[in-house]
Amino acid sequence: MTSVNNERVLIGIAASPGICHGPAVHFSQGQVEIPCYSITQEQVATETERLEVSIIATREEIIHIRKKVSATLGEGEALIFDAHLMVLEDNALITEVLQYLNEELKNIEYCFNQVVDRYINFFKNIEDEYLRERVSDIRDVERRVLNNLLGKKHVEKDISHAKKIIVSDDISPSLAVGFNKDSLLGFLTDSGGATSHFVIMSRSLNIPAVVGLHDVTKQVKHDDYILIDGYSGKVYINPRKETLSLYQERADKQHAIELRYQKELLEKCETRDGHTIELMVNIEGTDEIDAYKTSNSDGIGLFRTEGLFLRHNGVPSEEAQYNEYASVVDNASGKSVIIRTLDIGGDKLVDGINEESFLGLRAIRYCLENLSVFKTQLRAILRASAHGEVQIMYPMISGVEELDKANQVLNEVKSELTQSGISFNQSIKVGVMIELPSAVMVINLLASKVDFLSVGTNDLIQYLMAVDRMDDKVSHLYQPTHPAVLRSLKLIFDGGKESDKSVSICGEMAGEPIYTALLLGLGAKSLSVSISRLAEVKHFIRLMDLAKLEALVEECMGLDRAEPIEAKLQAFIEGIS
Ligand code: PEP
Ligand code: MG
Repeated sequence: MTSVNNERVLIGIAASPGICHGPAVHFSQGQVEIPCYSITQEQVATETERLEVSIIATREEIIHIRKKVSATLGEGEALIFDAHLMVLEDNALITEVLQYLNEELKNIEYCFNQVVDRYINFFKNIEDEYLRERVSDIRDVERRVLNNLLGKKHVEKDISHAKKIIVSDDISPSLAVGFNKDSLLGFLTDSGGATSHFVIMSRSLNIPAVVGLHDVTKQVKHDDYILIDGYSGKVYINPRKETLSLYQERADKQHAIELRYQKELLEKCETRDGHTIELMVNIEGTDEIDAYKTSNSDGIGLFRTEGLFLRHNGVPSEEAQYNEYASVVDNASGKSVIIRTLDIGGDKLVDGINEESFLGLRAIRYCLENLSVFKTQLRAILRASAHGEVQIMYPMISGVEELDKANQVLNEVKSELTQSGISFNQSIKVGVMIELPSAVMVINLLASKVDFLSVGTNDLIQYLMAVDRMDDKVSHLYQPTHPAVLRSLKLIFDGGKESDKSVSICGEMAGEPIYTALLLGLGAKSLSVSISRLAEVKHFIRLMDLAKLEALVEECMGLDRAEPIEAKLQAFIEGIS
């Protein structure tokens, strides 16, 4: 541990709570810049040799990662690297690159990139789904070869050993899933908002993160010693000894508090005045099953299936999906598992199959445009329903038209399975996420057609307030207590009540005690939170009186701005702490 006297402090958005300190490592996910320059005929041999050297280095790299992934995640996950080796060793590709080099007399990086791009365009337009999916493998291999050619020290996200604080401009969920969790201390990013998907992942892994720091990549040098206060958003560069010991004390106190919360996990989840609240958890995959088992929660209220797609960087086979879903269900201790169909798009990108836009072809929209992907997933989910209490949930539904279309596909898949004699739960429950303002406005129409509703407040606030949840420049406008959010939530609870359908909340709001209070006061009887938030939320629910919460929310509904509502809720929580 080092401490020098040139301590500096940066302040960003406190995204994932916790305190940590350690050396920084820069991680860039930017595109590789490819130089282009002419060469002479005599230089062709040197350029050819450079390509050979870089292919050998890339081969070793891939084999090394394959071994590592096989040992940590299993052989199934490691198979993807065999596909990468096949791309790398494709003779036709190499021959074409060398031919291009001889004809064009340009540097090898440029030639390699040009030929690979041609390949990618060819694969992208191909009918065969399997071959189309190979685009992501080709891209990955291309990136590695180019990095080796350009001598870039590529920070390997899954092979670093020492514990580090990752400093980056931004971190996409597809990169986040590849990090070796044991080597992570914390995250600092220039951009990002408190509900960015990688932030949600860090929270569930208990890894402190501060985002929206604007220029942390410039302020922090490689190997600078860093202290992160994920509660306040403060980041200390080269902290003084006194700062480190002050924070050590705080961390110890916090740890003691958390242990106290943990002790309540076995208690019933009911308010002080005796109202039972269903408390479920959000998970991203089988990684979290062990934590789920000790959580004593009421089931899995949101299984985000994108993780599997991001780890594969493509569409996993029906078998791979079935294995993952069935394994979660088998380990759910007989409780229900709500599997959300693919919510890809926005910031959750899988190479070559979707686009980066929160307003674009995301989630159910993507699935309805790519029926083979959707059907494969529905088959896998339905097959997993033979293992236990599975429910299906569609994300980003805007109204009944999309719901009907999704259900029609579901019915087709059900008939196909029945015809093939494959068993599944014929009367599987189907619900929708309410995360678009349009869905709120037609809540009664939707509620009458589904078995349950679940509110995705992360997106609901984003779309209601027109605030990109990834953009730190507008993060101050992302206000969970804005009167428009309160009114929308009220409409949703009322709609659910009228149709006698359960309404759960699975957005990050449910896991913050001040907002938990607001949600219960508005009528929530069911919450789904990330496992790391569960103990604290339960602790506070057990201190709350529903009657008081209803009165508090009544007062909040009379206020016209977010700030005083937030202050009231804060004071309430402090009052019961
Ligand atoms: C939400 O939008 O609140 C939600 C739970 O879904 P996600 O964060 O995965 O978009
Ligand atoms: Mg969402």
